[in-house]
Amino acid sequence: MNKFKRILLKVGGESMLGDREYGIDPQAALEVAGKIKAIHDLGAQVAVIIGGGNIFRGLAGSKNGIDRATADYMGMLATVMNGMALADALEKSDVECRLFSALRMEQVAEFFVRGRAIKHLERGRVVIISAGTGVPYVTTDTGASLHGLELHCDVLMKATKVNGVYEADPMKDPKARRYKTLTYQDAILMEGVEIMDTAALAMCQENNLPVMVFKLFDENNLTKAVKGEDIGTYVANGVKTELA
Ligand code: UDP
Repeated sequence: MNKFKRILLKVGGESMLGDREYGIDPQAALEVAGKIKAIHDLGAQVAVIIGGGNIFRGLAGSKNGIDRATADYMGMLATVMNGMALADALEKSDVECRLFSALRMEQVAEFFVRGRAIKHLERGRVVIISAGTGVPYVTTDTGASLHGLELHCDVLMKATKVNGVYEADPMKDPKARRYKTLTYQDAILMEGVEIMDTAALAMCQENNLPVMVFKLFDENNLTKAVKGEDIGTYVANGVKTELA
């Protein structure tokens, strides 16, 4: 029995890197697709929002002298490329999916329309949303919370490199313990760890969308998370901040 029925999965661009330093590794895309297929096979409705950090981030571009808004639009285009690669990988894995873009580019992706996305989800198709919110000065984290809310998802699952939020950096301190649950307030104020953009987390708090932070490339973590097993860190209203 799944704990969550409709899931908004945020996949960072880094997940598409494989062993590369830049760009898309088709094998990594297939691995991500495999994780998605596993929860789709369990009957979960899955909307995926994909980042673009493996190709281009607006903030980095603007530091190099490109106008910030222009750089952010470039970042959004990067997420569309990742979305195309992920859609390709899902199809190769026999998972029916639809690629949306919040920017118009009909030749490669359907323009995001909420009602259509919901219909696809109800029909059992995986929905990939690229180009985030379609506006600059935010990141795909904000896209994840906005789309997660408007698509009435039960949870926002944020895939990261670490399996949840730890009291200290587990790479530096192997004894550091994982937070099993966190209040939004503690998640926002957590020192030295940026779980998600503050605005995105605040939006989740205000509108009651729980956030699960977990490591995607760790066995069946995503499947376990969907079933409600104790992995990662669960941020929600009505929970106390507790270590595992
Ligand atoms: N971006 C944007 N608006 C959005 C989503 C993304 O301007 O709604 C731009 C922004 O420049 C961002 C880039 O696209 O840096 C890539 O997205 P993100 O950094 O979220 O990718 P991730 O870190 O998840 O790989």
